[in-house]
Amino acid sequence: MQDPQAYFATRLKDTDREVFDAIAGELDRQQDQIELIASENLVSLASLDALGSVMVNKTVEGYPGRRYYGGAEFADTLEQLAIDRATQLFGCKHANVQPHSGSQANLGVFLALLKPGDTILSMDLSAGGHLSHGAKVNLTGKWFNVVHYGVRPEDGHIDMAGVERLAQEHQPKLIICGGSAYPRAIDFAAFRAAADSVGAWLLADMAHFAGLVAGGQHPHPFPHAHVATATTYKNLRGVRGGITLWNDDAMTVKLNSGVFPGVQGSVILNAVAAKAVCLGEALKPEFQSYAANVLANARALAASLQARGIDLVAGGTDTPLMLVDLRGIGLTGNVASEALERAGLTCNKNGVPNDPEPPQVTSGLRFGVSAGTTRGFGADEFSAVGGWIADVLEGLAESGPGDNGAREATVRDETRALCRQFPIYPDLMD
Ligand SMILES: *Cc1c(COP(=O)(O)O)cnc(C)c1O
Repeated sequence: MQDPQAYFATRLKDTDREVFDAIAGELDRQQDQIELIASENLVSLASLDALGSVMVNKTVEGYPGRRYYGGAEFADTLEQLAIDRATQLFGCKHANVQPHSGSQANLGVFLALLKPGDTILSMDLSAGGHLSHGAKVNLTGKWFNVVHYGVRPEDGHIDMAGVERLAQEHQPKLIICGGSAYPRAIDFAAFRAAADSVGAWLLADMAHFAGLVAGGQHPHPFPHAHVATATTYKNLRGVRGGITLWNDDAMTVKLNSGVFPGVQGSVILNAVAAKAVCLGEALKPEFQSYAANVLANARALAASLQARGIDLVAGGTDTPLMLVDLRGIGLTGNVASEALERAGLTCNKNGVPNDPEPPQVTSGLRFGVSAGTTRGFGADEFSAVGGWIADVLEGLAESGPGDNGAREATVRDETRALCRQFPIYPDLMD
């Protein structure tokens, strides 16, 4: 038997070098690459402290004040703190902070409001929707009757007339707005009108722009949505997880039961602790300027790409993300994203609306600015990033992936130099 004192006192670096080295390698990667994956961000050291805390040892089921196990005093304090901060931040009456992820938050809503076989109306995955909104391969797509709306071919904006028409035709019980690769602001009032016209619930999934909503830089889903969900780890800048928000007291038992015991068991309390930290950070005035900077940076990056003749779906962005349509410059998403990664610019290939290419190839790239903005990048840095992206893509279009090495190496030096000026987590792994 190992000496308990050593067990409680030995740090990872002194006990498991393989795991430590992989984590240290990941920190170096994050430090030295420009993170443009829209679903990523960089959490505060305070969030890391909470996530790595002894809260991980505590098991509770149920909700504060109504637990199934004892010893829940501090768990209750913590979860109530997270709930109160979430409702204050988003100006709503109720919050559930237990969802392990955004998909779980959505599934809990489905369970609360629908029966298997009910009809839902949501954005098509190929137009920028999300797997958990009824994609064929997802549980939600297998167990519900899903009808999809899309974007208008002429300008890439949501086809609201189509939403209204499909609602009348299919009489859904639930309409979902919000997506993973839709760059424009959502007209929640128009969605609510469409929902009301057929007596449907409206779910606003603000996973990708929750920080902008909190910071007053995007239209607010309330009072229009009956329920809103979000991930905490994208634009909201917290640890991995989800939240569910609503106003109507009459929905509370259903929505809470949808999460627990509906689709989840016990609470990941260390994640709830870290969510409380992130929500507390988002309530501070500094977060308002973070949100404003995210939007300004997204627009600066978008403008710098367009200035180099690179097409953006929907012509620009109102969110932290944008979608490049590579067809105009004759490239595909897989080849382009690999070249950019070699140049120190990490992003993902992404389908564009009506993409002729299969999902492993795609005709698009998705870029997000949430993580770079957290590091301190401003519009100047993002304009430079846009120029480097254009350099790599132009080279690739001219000479193909085999002969673009010199240009990628030049940009790699530039991206590394910029990253060095904006260090993250100094001394973390020392
Ligand atoms: C990211 C995302 C989610 C949740 O994803 P998880 O990986 O389950 O956290 C849900 N909805 C949308 C629109 C998203 O972009």
